[in-house]
Amino acid sequence: MSGGMRQRAMIALALACKPQLLLADEPTTALDATVQIQILLLLRELQRDLGLSVIFVTHDIGAAVEVADRIAVMYAGRIVEEGTARELIRSPRHPYTIALLKSRAHGALARGTRLETIGGAPPDLSALPPRCSFAERCALASDACRAAQPPVVELAQNHRARCIHTDAAAAIAPMLVA
Ligand code: SF4
Repeated sequence: MSGGMRQRAMIALALACKPQLLLADEPTTALDATVQIQILLLLRELQRDLGLSVIFVTHDIGAAVEVADRIAVMYAGRIVEEGTARELIRSPRHPYTIALLKSRAHGALARGTRLETIGGAPPDLSALPPRCSFAERCALASDACRAAQPPVVELAQNHRARCIHTDAAAAIAPMLVA
């Protein structure tokens, strides 16, 4: 069977017990782009038709945007930004979310432009620093970011971010709409 067929078989197996919650962990990894979108649409359709809740785990924020109502962005084991998919795409307020969005091919990207990458590497998860875990890779990092864990900031109803420079972050996130 092809990768797409195997993935559909796995989804059928998972649905056989009529679950109320489906945890789909990287269900489109290693699939080509066409099959990937088919699987995403299938999951979306099943979720609506069967009244399922789906937790979709992915490293591809572009895929999350296609399939999710709400998105929680995790970095170094913590949720750093959470909100509706629409809110996160239109007004991301955590530098990591913004960096992820800038690293994908989005609608506002001029033809021939290189995709941005996130320099550096994640921290050692077995010895997390007592500061913002993203500080070593963040363009907005200040002394305050390295002094303590940033608190969770409520930005709007159902939109929050773990960052002390959410206003400055908003300024570096123009035109990311897909
Ligand atoms: S708290 Fe500071 S280092 Fe951490 S993401 Fe926000 S701006 Fe960057």
